[in-house]
Amino acid sequence: MIATGIGYDVHRLVVDRPLVLGGVEIPHPFGLDGHSDADVLCHAIADALLGAAGEPDIGHLFPNTDPSIRGISSLEILRRVRALLEEKSIRLHNIDATLIAEEPKISPHLALMKERVGSALGLPPNRIGIKATTNESMGFLGRSEGMAALATACVDRPEE
Ligand code: MG
Repeated sequence: MIATGIGYDVHRLVVDRPLVLGGVEIPHPFGLDGHSDADVLCHAIADALLGAAGEPDIGHLFPNTDPSIRGISSLEILRRVRALLEEKSIRLHNIDATLIAEEPKISPHLALMKERVGSALGLPPNRIGIKATTNESMGFLGRSEGMAALATACVDRPEE
């Protein structure tokens, strides 16, 4: 059967952390705080895929109390999610994601993000949607206190 999933994530912006989005390190005075590389876009995508697969969420599978995954690349999280889906004979169709951040400009990095996320998931870049928008200066996102991401995933899942 065709199944869809939805994912949402948010991380705080802090100094002295690299900014990693969609597996790409982007030059910026602030980075996202978290136990992993805090790649908010990949986390939303992982949750969308896990939701479509009927699995528990990313926090359950990759708890921030697990020292073995401290600083883990979120592309590796996506690779592990992909392996989990493959074990259940679930085929990925496409994912679509939106990053919500006031700055920096994301468009120069979109092509590389799609390539890296696609290669982690075994999907061609044209099956990966990544878009970015601002929060029009409103709220915590508008004040650049953090970044958020939304994602959906569509998969083909064996009937159980
Ligand atoms: Mg997260």
